[in-house]
Formats: sequence, C-alpha cells, structure tokens
Amino acid sequence: MLVLDKDWSGHPLGAPEAWPDILKTSISTVLNSPESMILAWGTERLTFFFNETYFPLLGPRLSWAMGSPFEEVWADAWEQAKPIIDEAFAGRSQRFVDLPWKLDTDRGQADTWFTFSYSRILDPKGEVAGLFIFTNETTARVLADAALERSQAELREANRLLAQRVEERTAERDRVWQLTNDLMATARLDGHLVQVNPAWERLLGWTEQELLTRPFVEIIDPADHAEAADVVGRLAAGEVVGGFVDHVLTKDGTARTIMWDAVPEGNSDLFYIIGRDLTEQHSAEEALRQAQKMQAVGQLTGGLAHDFNNLLTGVMGNLELIQMRLASGRLEDLERFVLAAQGAGRRAASLTQRLLAFSRRQTLDPRATEVNRLIGGMEDLLRRTIGPQNELEIVGAGGLWPAYIDAGQLENALLNLCINARDAMPEGGRITIETANKWLDSRAARERDLPEGQYLSICVTDTGTGMSADMISRAFEPFFTTKPLGQGTGLGLSMIYGFARQSGGQVRIYSEMGMGTTMCIYLPRHTGDAPSEVDEEAALTAAAGGSGTILVVDDEAAIRHLVDEVLDDVGYTVIGAADGAAGLKVLQSGAKIDLLITDVGLPGGMNGRQVADAARHLRPGLKVLFITGFAENAAVGNGHLEQGMELLTKPFSLEALTAKVSAMMDKP
Ligand code: ADP
Ligand code: MG
Repeated sequence: MLVLDKDWSGHPLGAPEAWPDILKTSISTVLNSPESMILAWGTERLTFFFNETYFPLLGPRLSWAMGSPFEEVWADAWEQAKPIIDEAFAGRSQRFVDLPWKLDTDRGQADTWFTFSYSRILDPKGEVAGLFIFTNETTARVLADAALERSQAELREANRLLAQRVEERTAERDRVWQLTNDLMATARLDGHLVQVNPAWERLLGWTEQELLTRPFVEIIDPADHAEAADVVGRLAAGEVVGGFVDHVLTKDGTARTIMWDAVPEGNSDLFYIIGRDLTEQHSAEEALRQAQKMQAVGQLTGGLAHDFNNLLTGVMGNLELIQMRLASGRLEDLERFVLAAQGAGRRAASLTQRLLAFSRRQTLDPRATEVNRLIGGMEDLLRRTIGPQNELEIVGAGGLWPAYIDAGQLENALLNLCINARDAMPEGGRITIETANKWLDSRAARERDLPEGQYLSICVTDTGTGMSADMISRAFEPFFTTKPLGQGTGLGLSMIYGFARQSGGQVRIYSEMGMGTTMCIYLPRHTGDAPSEVDEEAALTAAAGGSGTILVVDDEAAIRHLVDEVLDDVGYTVIGAADGAAGLKVLQSGAKIDLLITDVGLPGGMNGRQVADAARHLRPGLKVLFITGFAENAAVGNGHLEQGMELLTKPFSLEALTAKVSAMMDKP
C-alpha cells in the first residue's frame, strides 16, 4: 500500500508500472519476507524500500521513508552507513552483529544496536543494481545482556568483599583462638580432642601432638572420670553442659582446676569446649572456706563447752550434794539428787547425740518406714507443741513411697521443724506438713546435690517471718541461732541436715523475708521390704526375765562389769572377754552361747565387726549386738546390718540394754 500510495511522478525511478522486472522481483522478495528487510535500489541515489517487519525500526521516519533516498532516511546514521554500503557495492558483503548506532527513535535520540548484513543484487547484465539488507534491532537484548553483565560484575564484587570480610573475621577469631588463656577445643564424643588452641600447651604443658593422639580422660584426674563420662553422655544426648568443674593434670604432674562449658554440634559426633582455669580463684575460695570453717568450729566448740559445763555442773553438783549428805548421815530424800544428776546426764547424752547427728556420725537405726503413718502418729504431739494459736494441716500424699530411715530421727526432725515454724509466727499462723513423691531428673537432682532418682519429700511450711538469704546460708551451722539466749540452741537445723544427708537425702530451705518459710526434707525411696511393726513392739517388751548365755567382749572392765551385773539380775548367764581373741576362744570351746555382745572399738588388732564375722564363721547365725560410739560406725556398715545383728549406741541406759538384749534373745 505504501508503495502504491506514493506519488512517484518526479521520482528518478518513475511510475512503478515502468520499473524493471528485477526491481519488481526484488521488492516482492522483500515485501513477502517475514524477516525485517530493506532494499536500497540504484547505485548513486539509493531508493529505500522496506517491509512490514521493519516498521518498528523506522520510528518517526515511517510516514515518509518509503521510496525516499537512503541517505535522507538514515541521515543521522549516514556517516556510519556510507562506508559499509560502499564496501557492499565493492562486492565485500559483510555481516555485523550488535553494531551500535546513535539514532532518532520514537523515544528521541537513543543508543541502539543492530545485527545486519548487506548484499548486492545484480541485474541480468551482471551490474550492481542495488542492495538487500537484512537487519534486526538487538537493542533490547544488548541492553539486557549488559544489565546481566553489570549485575554479574556487582555480584562478583560483592563476593570478593564477602570473602575478604570472612578472611578478616577469621583472622580476628584466629587471634582470639591464639591469644586467649581459656582452653578452647573441638572434641569427639569418642573421647578424643580434634583441635586445641595454644592455651592448652601454655597452661598444661602438653604439646598439641600429645593432646590429639590420646583419649582426653588420660589428662583428667581419675577422681573426676565418672563426672566426665556423665558430661560426655549428656552432650551425646544433645544437651549443652555448662559450668562443670574438673581437675586437669599438667605435664609436670600437678593439677589445674578448670571450669568447662561444652556445646554439642548437632548431627555429628563433635562438641566444642571452652575451659577456664580457676585454680588460683579456687585456692582463694578454699582459704576463705577454711577460715569460715575454723570460725564455725570455734563457734561449735564454744557453744559445746558452754552447754556441757552447765550439764556437768548439774551432774557433779548433785553428786557432791549426795556426798555431803552421806558424810553427814542425812540419807532421807537422796533420790531427788540422783534424779537430778541423771537428768543432766541424759541431757548431756542427747546433746552429744545431736552433735553426732550434725556430723552425720550418729548411729542410725534405719528401717523401712511409712512416713505418712509416722506423721499421723505425731499429730497430737505436734498440735500440743505448736499451741492453740497455730493451725496445723497435714497433707499426706496418697501412695507415698516408703523410706528407709531412722524413724526416731525423722520424728525429731519434724518436731524441730514445727518448733522453728512456731517460733517464726509469734502472732500465730498456719503450719502445713505436706508429703509427696518426687522424681528428680538429672537437673533437679544436681540442684539438690543428690543422685538422680526417686525421692519422697516432707515439707513443713509456715506463714511466719521468713528468712533472709544470709540466714538461709547459715541456718544449718551448728549453734547458729537468732533466738535470745536460753531459747535457741542453734542445733535443730544442723541436726536435721546431718540426719538427711546421712540418710542419703537432703534438706532445702525455700524462704523470703516476710513471706513465710518452707523447709523440705528429701529422702530416697525405699524399694525393699515393706515396713513392719512387729520389730518395734518386740523392742518395747521390757525385760521380764530371761535365760540363756551371753558372751560380752569389751576391753573396758567397768562396762563388762556393768553389763554382767545388770544382765545377771535379769536372769542371763554372762561370760566376759577383754578382747576379740579371748572371745573367740570361748566360742571355740564349744560353750553354749546365745548372744554375742561386743564393743566395736577393741584393742588387739581385731575390731568388733571382725570378731562378729569370725564368731559367725564358728557359729553361723549367732546373734550379735554391737555397742558403738560414733567413730566406729563405719566399721559396722553405717547401720546397714546383716540379719540377726543389732546396734546399741553409747551412752545407753541400763534399761535400754536389757530391753534390747531380751528382745534379741526372745527372737527365734
Ligand atoms: P534454733 O531454733 O535453736 O535457733 P535452728 O537450727 O533450729 O536453731 O534454727 C536456726 C535459725 O534458723 C533460727 O534461729 C532462725 O533464725 C532460723 N529459722 C529456722 N527455721 C525458721 C523458720 N521456719 N522461719 C524463720 N526462720 C527460721
Ligand atoms: Mg530450732
């Protein structure tokens, strides 16, 4: 249409009807091609033809370009196009890819890019008649390529910066790794170090080579091996373990105290570990602790001396009075002084008992005990003790596990806790005793300094004054009291603490000033035999008279004599021996012996426990009653005795001795 609509009069080519065939054919080739094509016809003044696909390339020229001279249509590019056209006419057809042109476009002057080729059209005589030009604008692709290239360059630059920064950071980290005095390492769960920082060699003396080639437990103090194994186990389970302390051996044979933090690397067998040397800090703390201990010992001995002097004054004073009365022949009413002296003696015995309880050296008589029943049995006594202005509530857990404890000591502890609670509530208030079963997982157990496992708790809560942090930290010290002189002994909690620890448990104070106090005793669950009451009853049947032969081994003649005297009175036959060897001779002689009573601390190289074992070797199943002071307690298994063996603790009353002996003799 553009060709036909144009007024060709005055055009050098003349009217289209007169055009030579070759021109017509060429135009038709161009017009019918789907490629973007142009035809430049002629040799001097090139006439410009183009097809529809070429339209967009013409921009503002479209309306007038058809049939116009090439150099007008592309005037703004002529300088660049002319040499290419000349080359083409000269027979050197060329192909150009993405050649840039500055051209007028619909969007004004712009940078454009074209891929094109020029080729000659020859007429039948072989003369050049014009040029075919394939041409595609590639501006969009070139710009896109350029943008891509730019963004890739930016990316490359960003990567380079990142790499550089990582390198700098790594260098900084590396300086920390190199310079710190903390021990840093990567280790494997199989117990080998994989990587260590130089602090290891500086602090411990071992070379990196030595550290990496053998299991790390080899440089841990054997006393800490169990804990180290536990820590590795927890890491293997994915737990982060912080703040554990162990002793690490140095190459020169000393040990450093190190506090560690360890973090497992998920999904691998690696963990990271950082240790800080606490050796100096520890020895300072140790010195402080030692000083505090000396202070506590001072307090203890001072308090003890004071109390004991009072009690001794009671004993000696009354004996002196008796002596004076005897001297002057006034025998009436002597009983009064005897009773007073005995009372003071008993109080002295109970004082030592309480001290021994604190030092965890009392002789416990543990039995399977149902704690709820024990508390129930005390309810009356507790109510009377705390007085009518205080309420008492007892909340016993159903299905409470039994405990293996000395029931008398637990009663004592509860009574003491209730008295403390009462004293903390001068205006009256409420005391709650609550029992519960407790599963202490490893964390809860560690917090309470107990092995993991099943416990029962007995908590006494009051609504009283509460305690400051300082009071809480000192409350378990013997003779620590805030009560006025004559009211507090400061022995209650220390004794409870000793009892709980000795029973494999713990005591904890939960309190705040003004908020009341909860004191909890934790005791391990007993899984053995069910509690029985028969024993207690048997023990209560007083010595009504008995028969049988008893061998008494004690190096103290006075005690042998005393025992002989009192047991003889009740009807037993008593044979005495001053040491283990003498006692065993009696047994070897074949004499009939029903019960062996032996002191635990004996001279002559054989203690009471060994005498008992030898005796049972000679007479299997022989009943044995040990008499102990506290120190020998360990010798007889800390209260865990075999069947048919029992304990009596010094000092004991003669009544207690006969009751115990007859209970044992009466048992089958
Ligand atoms: P005592 O009762 O003879 O003072 P304890 O060892 O029983 O000795 O207690 C030590 C101290 O702990 C008490 O003097 C008191 O200051 C504090 N205390 C104990 N129990 C409680 C309680 N339930 N509420 C507040 N303070 C308490
Ligand atoms: Mg008390």
